[in-house]
Amino acid sequence: MSESLITQEPPASHGVASHCPYCALQCAMTLTPNSDASEPVTVTGREFPTNRGGLCRKGSSAAKVLGLGDRITQPMIRTAHGLEPTTWDHALTAITEAIRGTQREHGRDAVGIFGAGGLTNEKAYALGKFARAVLRTSRIDYNGRFCMSSAAAAGNRAFGLDRGLPFPLTDLDRAHAVLLIGSNVADTMPPFVQHLASAREHGGLFVIDPRESATADLTRSEERECGIHLAPTPGTDQELLLGLIHVVIAEGLYDAAYVASRTNGFARFKRTAQRYWPEHVQSLTGVPAAKIRAVARGLATAKDRGAFVLTGRGVEQHTNGSDTTSLAINLALLLGLPGREPGGYGTVTGQGNGQGGREHGQKCDQLPGYRSINDPQARAHVASVWGIDEQDIPGPGIDATQLLLSCGTDHGVRTLMIHGSNPVVSAPNATRVTRALADLDFLVVSDFVLSETAQLAHVILPVAQWAEEEGTMTNLEGRVIRRRRALPLPGAARDELAVLAELSTRLGSTMFFGTAEQMFEELTRASAGGRADYSGLSYDLLDQERACYWPYPAGSAGTPRLFRDSFPTADGRATLADVSPRAIAERIFDGAELTLITGRLLGHYQSGAQTRRVPELLASDPDGRVEINPETAHLYGVVEGQLLTLHNERGTVQARARLSRQIRRDTLFMPFHFAGSNSVNRLVSSATDPLSKMPEFKATRVWVSQEEQCVA
Ligand code: SF4
Repeated sequence: MSESLITQEPPASHGVASHCPYCALQCAMTLTPNSDASEPVTVTGREFPTNRGGLCRKGSSAAKVLGLGDRITQPMIRTAHGLEPTTWDHALTAITEAIRGTQREHGRDAVGIFGAGGLTNEKAYALGKFARAVLRTSRIDYNGRFCMSSAAAAGNRAFGLDRGLPFPLTDLDRAHAVLLIGSNVADTMPPFVQHLASAREHGGLFVIDPRESATADLTRSEERECGIHLAPTPGTDQELLLGLIHVVIAEGLYDAAYVASRTNGFARFKRTAQRYWPEHVQSLTGVPAAKIRAVARGLATAKDRGAFVLTGRGVEQHTNGSDTTSLAINLALLLGLPGREPGGYGTVTGQGNGQGGREHGQKCDQLPGYRSINDPQARAHVASVWGIDEQDIPGPGIDATQLLLSCGTDHGVRTLMIHGSNPVVSAPNATRVTRALADLDFLVVSDFVLSETAQLAHVILPVAQWAEEEGTMTNLEGRVIRRRRALPLPGAARDELAVLAELSTRLGSTMFFGTAEQMFEELTRASAGGRADYSGLSYDLLDQERACYWPYPAGSAGTPRLFRDSFPTADGRATLADVSPRAIAERIFDGAELTLITGRLLGHYQSGAQTRRVPELLASDPDGRVEINPETAHLYGVVEGQLLTLHNERGTVQARARLSRQIRRDTLFMPFHFAGSNSVNRLVSSATDPLSKMPEFKATRVWVSQEEQCVA
């Protein structure tokens, strides 16, 4: 095993070795308990291949969330006077009665579960088991649907497998070229940037982003050009990728031997790509033809020495996101990158367990091991692990957007349990979702802060945070890592696994829910033979801090690099999907409309429920500003700091204008971490990608006014 793939466990006297609670880079940190109640552990960066000791401001301040003054440490129940503290017994009795009553009156599917990509593997697995084997409902999905689903769909379509990076992140350290498409890692996961140094040195960092993002800035330096930034009109990513592919094919830059021996579909796809010559693509995307040629040639020149194509949410979070991602994969396949070392295609996963969260059964169509719930063999295997009849496992459910919108309707979900998610802020069409949640007969939220969603709950269950629990996470590389407890649970808070165990018993089930280690052991058996096979893993092995990449079948040493010789498809070949451009849901048609892009800020994570509570993070980014080009601002008579109202048919939001030349004139940018009148997802539509069911967070048609309307 390469030394770079091994982590260093700190001596016991120096604290507990764990990982950051936030994003999928899963930076390693050491937690040293102290006597400061407001920050009960000291966090220090720990040497690990993804972060090399570094932490961003979110990770380094993560301990503040553990000691929050408004931390929920007691169950709460809604009474005539609002939410009031109660006992666990009272709270669990109310939940049990609500579940029983709802299923008796409206059927099994009237009870739903909404999970999260930040939950440990054990909790994701336990939620899937609780839904299918205890509640016997098909209504389970999770917020990763809003994050990774397009990349997952495209990866499965092309490779027969979906692992964010099919290679260790440190392979990027040998890159001569990296094409980053719609990923702003400099803001979302800053320690990632060190892995782009080699590509920058070789002048090969290529960034596709309509904004002059912090990552796009990395293509320039005072000394030299480090790469090229392409800024297409929002909604034209597919045309731009086809332009790059056209050049690769027309100039004979593709790897003909690889394409012939390892892929299917080239002849058909080639005909589609022929229609997108650079000058034509320039007219469609606004990207100069010379830049398109330069990037295509730069990538092709580097293909034998280390070239990578990476996608992110910027291209994936569209109603055509799975097709766009397929085009990025096609480009990588034409260059012969997947399976090469160094080289490849990958997606830069977002949430902390965005990878593991989509492998163990909390998706509406999936069983543990990344198996299809429609596959009779998979059903039989999982049923045998759970000790039930295969017929008792429900069929596929509905995706996260539809699940949330069904809440409170006649044939929809009437009792919902939400774990680790704040859809009032993070879901598309957030006003409609909020109304739907308010229409539920019963809402249970497991959380450690009074999030905007928890405020709607009938019962809130206080649960553990990352430093208070055992478990595993799977980072953006498909590497399984240990999360370790450094602190006792505060007040009456409980571990969610214990909560599910007790609820299961109260509902009359004999289904087993044990400790994190016991659930992991069961998960590994349930995953055996699946695409995400964890059957060779154990806590003992992970505690040795070995580099454990799935698939890790029993008796193997894991799989740091995938696709070396073949792809896990029926014939061992990858598929070049024949994708023709399909318009996004909301194109702008006249000069009065602008395209709104939503995204992330350096100091905040997801819905901001945690990071908005950290004073120094809130101080640096206190609210949801609207970034607007100065020329557009001039047109509207808008000045810096002015309160703007953005509206469309779904709602209205308000935020202060921040003039920025980094944004195109036809485009606005707003972060999605904020609530209330700053809650930008109120404007985002419920339209989803037909394959992945990903909503369109990255292109929403809006109108701007300066009226100071009152927006609640
Ligand atoms: Fe690392 Fe992400 Fe945590 Fe920042 S938020 S410290 S990049 S894992």
